[in-house]
Amino acid sequence: DRVNQLQDDEAAITLENVSMNFGTFTALRPTDLKVKSGEFLTLLGPSGSGKSTLLNLIAGSLAPTTGRILLGGRDITFAPPRERGIGMVFQNYALMPHMSVFENVAYPLRIRREPKDVIGKKVHDALARVGLEGFDERKPKQMSGGQQQRVGIARCIVYSPSIIMMDEPLGALDKNLREQMQDEIKRLHTDLGTTFIYVTHDQEEALNMSDRICLMNVGGISQLGTPDELYFEPRNRFVAEFIGESNLISGRITGRDRFLANIGGEYAVPSREIAVGQECRLMIRPERLMMSSPENEPAAGRNSLRGRIIDTSFIGGMTRIQVEMADGMVVTSKAISEHGRAGVQAGTEVLLEWDPVNSVVLTD
Ligand code: ATP
Repeated sequence: DRVNQLQDDEAAITLENVSMNFGTFTALRPTDLKVKSGEFLTLLGPSGSGKSTLLNLIAGSLAPTTGRILLGGRDITFAPPRERGIGMVFQNYALMPHMSVFENVAYPLRIRREPKDVIGKKVHDALARVGLEGFDERKPKQMSGGQQQRVGIARCIVYSPSIIMMDEPLGALDKNLREQMQDEIKRLHTDLGTTFIYVTHDQEEALNMSDRICLMNVGGISQLGTPDELYFEPRNRFVAEFIGESNLISGRITGRDRFLANIGGEYAVPSREIAVGQECRLMIRPERLMMSSPENEPAAGRNSLRGRIIDTSFIGGMTRIQVEMADGMVVTSKAISEHGRAGVQAGTEVLLEWDPVNSVVLTD
């Protein structure tokens, strides 16, 4: 595993065998994780998968049931949150409502007893970084949600923490603003060069923002990798289905690069050392299914299916097309949208083809 080959001096945070039980309930199974210095790592997963638990263990608001947590080389497993030097941004902003923007952002510096002139300079630098120059005297309730979260971010970066963690920071904002702020946070990460750990349950947000994604499911890590790796090389069904859309065809391996579908039909697959007879699923992303007229013969080396379009939906740049096979199986294809959805009407017979390298064999 590439992650475990990291030298310790490259790792900003190391979790070794860290688990968390609440009574008899396991919120986090024993977990190893290395967060690289300077990377943007996203904890992604459905509700209840353990993202916040993992974040709170790193922040120090929870103490693990087993294992240790290292910050750089230092064991911080049981260190109080304040001593960790980790900055937090929360979904609900957690601003002090009676304090001005300036005082909210100055707060971490006042606790650290920084001199007044230093505080003034650092607060104004932080506010400038988040585009809030001139907002010093405003109260949080006189600002929009997006502006309040910018104050939350300024308060986090103002004392230059060595790690910045954000727990669903854009969860309360509408889609357009969320996308705009994703780009702002990415830019901030590039400018600061600090290690970011970001929590979201929104896969598009994770794909857009992250250097690496740690995809979690029921209290454990399902896969850790770049957005690209999770999308194109999912290791299991959960990853294939949580990230993007996928077509799954059940069957078994009949040779080094052969797959026999349960519904009939033998397909070429990327060659892997999988035992002949092993039950598995063939995964193909919708946009990899190329659609053409049923009179066509599949190109040499490609796999194919024949069926009838039963539904189409316009989703902007792409059109999503549901195709039913003779045996009743439905697969989803995606094609670049054209005016009037030319050629993609329900009822049309089609040929679907894919290149074997664009499919993945999942053995779980
Ligand atoms: P969400 O996206 O909904 O915030 P999450 O992935 O962050 O979910 P966690 O908040 O880490 O999930 O919770 C993981 C599991 O641990 C959940 O089933 C939750 O109910 C449970 N849990 C969390 N905190 C406690 C606690 N203090 N006592 C008991 N159970 C808890």
